[in-house]
Amino acid sequence: MNWLTNYIRPKIQSIVGPKDVPDNLWQKCPSCSGMLFHRDLAENMNVCSHCGHHLKMPVKDRLELLFDNGVYKRIDVPNVPSDPLKFKDKKKYVDRLKDAQSKTGEKEAIIVADGEIGGMPTIVAAFNFDFMGGSMGAAVGEGIVRAAETAVAKNAALIAIPASGGARMQEGMVSLIQLPRSVIAVRMVKDAGLPYIVLLTDPTTGGVSASFAMLGDIHMAEPGCMIGFAGKRVIEETIREQLPSGFQTAEYLRDHGMVDMVVPRKELKETMARLLNLLMNRTGASGVGGNSQKNGQGKNMHAKSGLFSGKTAFAPHATLNQSNPANDPSLDSVKEPARVLKK
Ligand SMILES: [Zn+2]
Repeated sequence: MNWLTNYIRPKIQSIVGPKDVPDNLWQKCPSCSGMLFHRDLAENMNVCSHCGHHLKMPVKDRLELLFDNGVYKRIDVPNVPSDPLKFKDKKKYVDRLKDAQSKTGEKEAIIVADGEIGGMPTIVAAFNFDFMGGSMGAAVGEGIVRAAETAVAKNAALIAIPASGGARMQEGMVSLIQLPRSVIAVRMVKDAGLPYIVLLTDPTTGGVSASFAMLGDIHMAEPGCMIGFAGKRVIEETIREQLPSGFQTAEYLRDHGMVDMVVPRKELKETMARLLNLLMNRTGASGVGGNSQKNGQGKNMHAKSGLFSGKTAFAPHATLNQSNPANDPSLDSVKEPARVLKK
């Protein structure tokens, strides 16, 4: 009987027996605790099918979602000294970096991509939250500067997609220097008369929200995402007061003038494309944009008109209304909640 137990049984077991089941087939929704099958979740753009909660989206999926036909080109981010302070807490910073690199297959927490959205040339600087919480160190700062420079050189729009816990503490002062650097980078884009849109995703906090992430011509946010500087508990303990519910969510910030529009993920691509078409004024809506771009004068036109030269950085609504006299009803959400503080 040996041949039966030793040979036949393992053979049969290998054919019909239990296979290795990956443990990430099901995910629990952090909002409603509903169980979500990985394939359904991916099909639904990482949005919970039970309650509509927007789960985190892998940065590459997001880029594919935004760019036309999912096609984009990566732009290299310059190398920087990897551990300027020789920092060590429980673990060496260089080891943490290596871990993050092998986990994500990426060099740093930012991806700069070049492509078209709605037919408009666009540079996207997207944070990778899986890489050390999307924290902003020197390399990420370099990424933002490179994205801004490329946008100006290519006469393209710049879109920043932060998903970050803030500055990278392991780089101390070096990471804090990235705040003014990123602000100057954004200023370059605005001075060139090009649109700068920020898509706030979960979470956008700390030094990132204290710099380039809050300087967009238009601030879009995903539903329910957390946006703030310090955490709720820290603020409550400091001011010794209870904060309102929903504090630091996208919807709260929209109602209080910090965010222009909260856009569900399914409408993101379309909304972004429509905004870029309006802002870059190449749809012929005003009768001058469409042709001038072809002979290379588009940039000058924007610069002269001053639409995005910084003066109007906090009043994009007037611009939108001007170039869209047809009052596109789908853009009501842009026009209505202007940056007016409600009491
Ligand atoms: Zn849910």
